[in-house]
Amino acid sequence: MRTILAAIHTIITMLYDLLFGCVHRKTTFPRSVRRGERRPRAAQLTGMYVVCVKCGKEFAYDWDEMRVVTNEEEFVHAREAVEAELHS
Ligand SMILES: [Zn+2]
Repeated sequence: MRTILAAIHTIITMLYDLLFGCVHRKTTFPRSVRRGERRPRAAQLTGMYVVCVKCGKEFAYDWDEMRVVTNEEEFVHAREAVEAELHS
């Protein structure tokens, strides 16, 4: 029974990771992407990234919105909305 619960917990954690990036909430202070560094593609767009202190996963960080970008499309969409507002 205990192993089944552990397996279910692992599956839920994996699904959460897939949907939201990772289950951990604690990340480093945003760092800027340096030229030539291999970073997540979204981080190349925002120019900043944070690292999960628990699992070491890297996430793009949007400094203007002050939040982690877990979905690249979401970021592009948000950026387009901001641009449209600026030019209207
Ligand atoms: Zn994590």
